[in-house]
Amino acid sequence: MYIVAIDPDTCDGNAACVEGCPVTILSTEEAGGHKKCVVSGATADCIGCMVCVEVCLTGAIKVTEF
Ligand code: SF4
Ligand code: SF4
Repeated sequence: MYIVAIDPDTCDGNAACVEGCPVTILSTEEAGGHKKCVVSGATADCIGCMVCVEVCLTGAIKVTEF
């Protein structure tokens, strides 16, 4: 199982992780005129592939195994 954490202050909402996630549990949403990424699906579906971490240039997303 994995924990997927996104820092909303660091995320610029470019959606690279959203497009890369093979199990489509990530999406972007508007908050206060600022686009950011959230985990919108079931975190339990995360397969720990780390694609999201690799494509995120701001370092906003962290995936941790537990
Ligand atoms: S580690 Fe892979 S499966 Fe998990 S959220 Fe990131 S891209 Fe999706
Ligand atoms: S790739 Fe990084 S900066 Fe871009 S939406 Fe995902 S978490 Fe945010």
